Amino acid sequence: MQFISTRGGEKVSGARAIVQGLAQNGGLFVPQTFPPVSPQELEDMLSMSYAERAAKILIKYLDEYDEKELLAACEAAYSRFEDPDPAPLVKIDDGIYILELFHGPTCAFKDMALTLLPYLLKKGCEICGIKEKILILTATSGDTGKAALEGFKDAEGVKIMVFYPNDGVSKMQKLQMCTQDGDNLNVVAVKGNFDDCQTGVKNIFNSPACAQELKQKGYVLSSANSINFGRLAPQIVYYFSAYLDLVSSGQIQMGEEIDFSVPTGNFGNILAAYYAKRMGLPVRRLHCASNMNNVLTDFFKSGEYDARREFYKTTSPSMDILISSNLERLIFEFSGRDAAVTAERMKSLKENRDYKISPEELKEIGKIFDGGFADEDEVVETVYDVFCDTGYTMDTHTGCAMKVAIDWFEKNKKDTTNMIVVSTANPYKFPQDVLYAVTGNDVRDSFKGIKRLHAATAMKVPKSLAGLRDKPVRFSSQVTADKMFLSVLDFVSQK
Ligand SMILES: *Cc1c(COP(=O)(O)O)cnc(C)c1O
Repeated sequence: MQFISTRGGEKVSGARAIVQGLAQNGGLFVPQTFPPVSPQELEDMLSMSYAERAAKILIKYLDEYDEKELLAACEAAYSRFEDPDPAPLVKIDDGIYILELFHGPTCAFKDMALTLLPYLLKKGCEICGIKEKILILTATSGDTGKAALEGFKDAEGVKIMVFYPNDGVSKMQKLQMCTQDGDNLNVVAVKGNFDDCQTGVKNIFNSPACAQELKQKGYVLSSANSINFGRLAPQIVYYFSAYLDLVSSGQIQMGEEIDFSVPTGNFGNILAAYYAKRMGLPVRRLHCASNMNNVLTDFFKSGEYDARREFYKTTSPSMDILISSNLERLIFEFSGRDAAVTAERMKSLKENRDYKISPEELKEIGKIFDGGFADEDEVVETVYDVFCDTGYTMDTHTGCAMKVAIDWFEKNKKDTTNMIVVSTANPYKFPQDVLYAVTGNDVRDSFKGIKRLHAATAMKVPKSLAGLRDKPVRFSSQVTADKMFLSVLDFVSQK
């Protein structure tokens, strides 16, 4: 399978797309075609484990990888999850299910891809004959950073550096990152919000001068952000797996269409659902859920992507994003894969923080996608209501997606299509906010929050979060966005 840039020009192998992360002209790599999964293959996958399903899907995109080795890598990655099933499906009401993607080492859905990415990248380098060491640069709104650190810690021939917005992540997220162990990594706070962080990292990626300097030090750059196809591909798997679980448990017939509601920030998770649909998974609608940073909600209504608005810090910080990078891949598809048009729109986004798609494109997108959002009170109400009515505790990000799902059923009372709400974080990752939603109690300290949330819900506390309290803080440096590359050079120069 070959990969092309959304802004034209390049055509590369899957291995190259993963190693490189971004196309040279700033575009994102997308598969040249969507490899189909036939009804027979779906049948065959029913009896498979999650890792086996993953290898079957991934090999379709990454055909220069070795399938047996890929399967072994998937098995190793998903054996690091606390639950034997890495992506369990929980029924909470007739027609509504929750897909729990937070049972990995860092308690957020990013683990679904970032436990596997080190293998994909390493093997990719081997396939491409790259001899230099790899430097992973990552901008994080909180969860990618920790999952990437955990995935790449002590990986041979790799260094990883994570930038997070100083005031834009939760206390628990910050603690998770700043106490990270491993000898090949660094964590730095950036003054500003996630968009500043992400722009800073993108600027480094797009600068030939930076690449040159790093090459002299023996490094090539790669990305663990969801702009990397190596992040996206493993995310396609759980949409298939959830569907197969519904079929094998007799909840739906094979071939019956279902909906997903996905808490969205950078548009990576929900884009993977769209890719699954394009591969033949019977998906009807995709509901894109935002928090108060609802630029995507407006986009799906009007066809205008307008980031010229106030940025809110919310209780779902991993979705506090105004520039949603992976949307570029979607508008590329709906423009009829017109790279020139996509490049022009991305230029307009960069220069004016705004672009529009045509009414025809919007109409086609609207046949599959709709957008909704939850404001801060609505998140609290939704988490509380579901807890009261069903006993199920969800985190604040999942609360946004649940609100959007509930709104959909309010507006479409006769709709009997099954809905899967994608759950992206363990509630203990945001203990104070979830505690407040469930009980009305306000505590200052995250660990007190965990204790009280446990008392209120009896839900199991993940070891990786409970253990944080006793870990020493190793990283505390802070830079301004214009000094990010200097700190990178500093890091790669260290022994
Ligand atoms: C990253 C993240 C999201 C947003 O996912 P995107 O792929 O960026 O849309 C939502 N919830 C949580 C908990 C996350 O960590």
